[in-house]
Amino acid sequence: MADQPRAAVYCRISDDRHGLGLGVERQRQDCHGLAERNGWRVVATHTDNDVSAYSGKVRPGYVELMRSIEAGQVDVVVAWDPDRLHRSPAELEGFIAAVEGAGVQVVSVQAGTVDLSTAAGRLVARMLGNIARHESEHKSERVRRVMQQRAESGRSHGRRAYGWTREHTADGTGREAIAPSEAAVVRRIADALLSGESLRAVTAALNSDSVPTPTGVPEWGKNMVRALVLRERNAGLRVHRGEVVGDGAWEPILPRDRWEQVRAVLTDPARKTSTGTAAAHLLSGIAHCGVCGARLRVAQNRGVPSYRCSANGCVIRRKEDLDHLVTELVIARLGAPDAADLFTTSDSPERVAAVAEADQLRARLDEAADQYADGLIDGRMLERITARLRPQLTEAEARSRLVDSAPLLDGLAGAPDVRGVWNGLSLSRRRAVVETLMTVTLNRTRRGARTFDPEAVAITWR
Ligand SMILES: [Zn+2]
Repeated sequence: MADQPRAAVYCRISDDRHGLGLGVERQRQDCHGLAERNGWRVVATHTDNDVSAYSGKVRPGYVELMRSIEAGQVDVVVAWDPDRLHRSPAELEGFIAAVEGAGVQVVSVQAGTVDLSTAAGRLVARMLGNIARHESEHKSERVRRVMQQRAESGRSHGRRAYGWTREHTADGTGREAIAPSEAAVVRRIADALLSGESLRAVTAALNSDSVPTPTGVPEWGKNMVRALVLRERNAGLRVHRGEVVGDGAWEPILPRDRWEQVRAVLTDPARKTSTGTAAAHLLSGIAHCGVCGARLRVAQNRGVPSYRCSANGCVIRRKEDLDHLVTELVIARLGAPDAADLFTTSDSPERVAAVAEADQLRARLDEAADQYADGLIDGRMLERITARLRPQLTEAEARSRLVDSAPLLDGLAGAPDVRGVWNGLSLSRRRAVVETLMTVTLNRTRRGARTFDPEAVAITWR
């Protein structure tokens, strides 16, 4: 029958958000049934295998369908569900234009006739499309978030995190409890690093004591020790997509401020002793240029090792002269009668405030992440909040990271033979002591000065 309306059936295998498990064959049958009941002649069936609705891949079936609509080869488009037709608002708009131009009717098994020739019909189609898109995006975000959280809390693949054990709970979800012997290893590493030991020395000590490794390999390596002690979860911090977003549900192994200090010791470029090559100079990366503020690095000046402004070369001074001056000042300070006062056993008010501020900012980030997970705010809003809070958090963390000087100066401040103790210290610990006690700024000398001028070095005691 030539006057029978021509129908094009469109089926798409996609992520089944309705949970109906509808295969493409079932979609095809339903669509053909609908065409038959209406007396339409199915002239073509287009099928796309498109598991991820928003993967952006080209859909050959959809392209063919559009081509046949534009060529005037169909009168009716039959789809199983309106949101199986279009993947994006832009696609929907293109479809509406083509359908209106050709005077084609659109029918779906699920939603009946979608009348794209009226404003109300188009609005419904757009809304259905938007809802489908929103749900799909939202779901993938949620899934990713849950996966991420599982991974970060050590629950993925049934693995537990080193330092904790899984305890069974009545509701079957389980709970993480501290594994005392493993937690003691983490604390031991933190204590040693904070008392000025190098990563190399800590690693060697773990091996000589035959402490079992987290992964079961026979020997500890420096990177393993470093990674273990730097884990955010040691401080009870929850990480989401690589960023700390708040508190975890587990008991921390290290107090947060102590963990921050460890992080400062291991990640501060000025104390960098973890890359294998320990810093070879007392003041490189510690002393500053008095002109531009950049840190000083060691460079050769006519064959003489010298501290030089690393950014612009504003200032340069013989390394030996500056090291000698600073060393003498440190020894004098540590041998002074009031040296014991250098022990800071309690935190400064500034540091307490900074720690509290960082905690508060983390809580706000956590809250935003939860609101996002609950669908109260969208991804763009979350990004905006994160972008605003993160720099503040970084800044507060930097202020909270002042190293507790007590373990550093233990056995040194007020010792009967400060010079002897000092000479026995590792370079990395000497550098940490200098940084704890003072700031060193190198100013320009008078033009043409040939000898070292201590007056051109500004020392500020902390
Ligand atoms: Zn400079």
